[in-house]
Amino acid sequence: MDKLVSLCKRRGFIFQSSELYGGINGFWDYGPYGVAMRRAVEQLWWQEMVDSRRNVVGLDATVICHPEIWRASGHLEQFADMMTDCRECKKRYRVDQLEDPTTCPECGSNDLTEGREFNLMMKTFVGPVFDEEHAAYLRAETCQPIFTDYNQVRISSRQKIPFGIAQVGKAFRNEITPRRFTFRSREFVQMEMEFFCRGNEAMDWYNYWHEERFKFHRDQLGFDENVLRVEPHDELPHYAQAAADIEYAFPFGWGELEGIHNRGTWDLTRHQEYSGEDLQYVDHDTQERFTPSVVETSCGLDRLFLALLCDAYTEDYAETQKEGREQEQRVVLRITPRIAPVQVAVLPLSRRLADNTEGIYEDLKRQFRTEFDVTGSIGKRYRRQDEIGTPFCVTFDFDSLEDQAVTVRDRDTMTQERVGVDQLKSYLAGKVYG
Ligand code: ATP
Repeated sequence: MDKLVSLCKRRGFIFQSSELYGGINGFWDYGPYGVAMRRAVEQLWWQEMVDSRRNVVGLDATVICHPEIWRASGHLEQFADMMTDCRECKKRYRVDQLEDPTTCPECGSNDLTEGREFNLMMKTFVGPVFDEEHAAYLRAETCQPIFTDYNQVRISSRQKIPFGIAQVGKAFRNEITPRRFTFRSREFVQMEMEFFCRGNEAMDWYNYWHEERFKFHRDQLGFDENVLRVEPHDELPHYAQAAADIEYAFPFGWGELEGIHNRGTWDLTRHQEYSGEDLQYVDHDTQERFTPSVVETSCGLDRLFLALLCDAYTEDYAETQKEGREQEQRVVLRITPRIAPVQVAVLPLSRRLADNTEGIYEDLKRQFRTEFDVTGSIGKRYRRQDEIGTPFCVTFDFDSLEDQAVTVRDRDTMTQERVGVDQLKSYLAGKVYG
């Protein structure tokens, strides 16, 4: 993890927010490569969950909503963790994360305070008066506005049950102990989909979505099956009838990437109760009237991003022309080409060839995330691209002036292939998008 964290900072993937002022715990900024890759992952999710399905539609609701929503959802009452403080070293812990809840893991003291409930909702005020009447909350999960907007979306999109609503957006939790880099942050992005169906079909849909989501992580993002597992919950959250997590084998142990829950009718029933509005569904064929059940898939984009980087990070050896050495160590991010921050690097072998190479770069960058790099030896430039996970480097050399062909180097195999400039786009498209 230390190596990865330092690579992320050095190459501008992720760094501490507000570092100029000493940083703020639990908040992270994404630099140019980080943002490019995170957007690509998000887009892939959207394409998989919304664009390629006729019965799932999108939504983009606000971060701050009517505070009553959080009363109805149970968050104001129940979204709390137990925390304890060590009186000796002043460290604070989540009780459920302590191996021995009577001993401080930092200094070994047994002098811990009684566990206290701590609500994770972040509070703010809306309007000019800062009092309880004007209190509002930053959403702790993106799904609640999906439930409150459900009827509006269903009617305007003319969807019939079963159908889903998907949303990607920020969520905020005042985590007691943000840690493990971005794994547990206080501000993070969720990619959620709520699928509305009949109660007696909910478990079938729950199983269906499990399989679909597992396949997404394996087939589209490229995780090997043995670094993923599905863990059913022993204890169910208050809203769920069935729940299981898709977990990834992080360097610090298994950790949840995505939760799949059968939420039953909990949410719509509660919002009907608190709002006084009728959210029942009427089946016009059978005239049946009922409150739909909901199956949820809830994936943390930042956690997924971290898992992708952990999975991609590799150290191996490559040939070098450095004096006295045949090989040198290289750091490679083996990122799936579709989501790599830079998909193609265009490298003129010599500065003198830069002008001749520009046109290729301009052309490729319309279709791929492309970088142009002319500084340093070619070996150094390859290493630089390996480190940020660029799957293909295109080198324009002096022969290219004659034969109108370039060398394409593959990041993983380090093999090089000569490709005609007029074939380059379709050659790369085949490799990147398969
Ligand atoms: P955990 O048990 O790790 O606190 P959770 O069960 O509370 O997670 P959910 O409420 O089910 O998580 O949220 C769905 C997804 O949102 C999680 O699978 C995770 O990927 C992401 N997520 C939740 N909390 C955080 C956080 N503090 N930082 C980053 N991602 C998070």
